[in-house]
Amino acid sequence: MVVELISVGTEILLGNIVNTNAAYLSEKCAALGLSCYHQSVVGDNEGRLEETVRLAVSRSDIVILSGGLGPTKDDLTKEVTAKVFGKALYEDAHTKERISGYFSRMRSGSITENNWKQAMVPEGAKVVDNHNGTAPGIIIEENGKTAILLPGPPNEIKPMFERDIMPYLRSLEPEGIYSKMVKICSVGESKAETMVLDLMEDQSNPTIAPYAKTGEVHFRVTARAADEKEADRLMEPMLSELFRRFGDKIYTTDEDVTLEEAVVSILKEKKITLTTAESCTAGLLAGRIMNTAGASEIYNEGYITYSDEAKERLIGVNHATLEKYGAVSAETAAEMAKGAAKAAGAKAAVSVTGIAGPGGGSEKKPVGLVYVGCSVNGNVRTEEFRFTGNRAKNREYAVVRALTLLREELLKA
Ligand code: ATP
Ligand code: MG
Repeated sequence: MVVELISVGTEILLGNIVNTNAAYLSEKCAALGLSCYHQSVVGDNEGRLEETVRLAVSRSDIVILSGGLGPTKDDLTKEVTAKVFGKALYEDAHTKERISGYFSRMRSGSITENNWKQAMVPEGAKVVDNHNGTAPGIIIEENGKTAILLPGPPNEIKPMFERDIMPYLRSLEPEGIYSKMVKICSVGESKAETMVLDLMEDQSNPTIAPYAKTGEVHFRVTARAADEKEADRLMEPMLSELFRRFGDKIYTTDEDVTLEEAVVSILKEKKITLTTAESCTAGLLAGRIMNTAGASEIYNEGYITYSDEAKERLIGVNHATLEKYGAVSAETAAEMAKGAAKAAGAKAAVSVTGIAGPGGGSEKKPVGLVYVGCSVNGNVRTEEFRFTGNRAKNREYAVVRALTLLREELLKA
């Protein structure tokens, strides 16, 4: 089935907000096996919105609209879509009650008259409760065409999509779409892709598709099947083949598991405590690790040692090492890791030192030169990288490389 997205809002057209809803919805629809050929952004203008909805309905099976479901006059999505589908609006008692309940919980009961606009729904439509706001989601079905209207705020659209819209979309096809995300680290993107070219060539069910991700490679394996068990059976040969080729470089096949979570679970499993010593990433690495709930079990303290003086004072890097090799060197990265582990009393430490740019580079040590160090149970390893991104990208790459190196060393421990 073909799905089409329409993002409604003048703010998006003006660039005041980034259209993250479109990115979110497209990724989810792709995972559901829906084809998306068109996306558009349209302002809060009745005529142009109507034109956009009509065109979308004419060429796609499912049209998902986001935004413009609010209580004010410029929120037109529901009115216009109902008009295109020839539906009148009526007041939905259940939604009215839910909105009253929402207000008495959230805002000490000050409902303004225009809020009741959000209780109006097109006749025959399915109403989807909003558990994080007032505007309900709305599904209109007519002559084999479907419109799904969703609220604009990301904290409302995402839970609604996951809880109710995904199961609904799945129910539209007798065969469901099931997928696994094979996430790989320690292998470059182009190398990984050449390693699966033959698998990508004559694929039908399951299919395999690469996804770009900073410093990692993800492959989505998707099967069309009557149920999950059947899907698992279909995907099994492809997954075993990927494991045969990539081995323990695959850190998960679970869509929701991140690299930092995979690393933290190895630390927990092996009962290894961790610390970090960061120069150019200045807390970014520690922050990534702390994205994982329960990371405090394996992490007590870390160090941001930006200056040479701090590297010496806090984590015992030798003055002579800094003088001889410089702060951005394999030797310093090694001493940072070793010294941090000692200072924190941790079994493992990972360090980053480099030149993020745009300034600070030289011919011998150019911008993007980064050393990562890792110490696990006293075994120290360092790696050199030459990134070519801007400051933010170089720091992000350094964090992924540090996590990757740490993971490799932990698997050996
Ligand atoms: P409200 O009841 O808040 O008015 P709404 O459904 O009418 O919700 P909009 O008014 O279009 O939605 O947008 C409300 C807010 O939601 C925007 O200010 C913005 O923060 C966010 N938002 C809307 N559309 C998008 C989008 N496409 N991507 C990311 N954020 C969005
Ligand atoms: Mg609005």
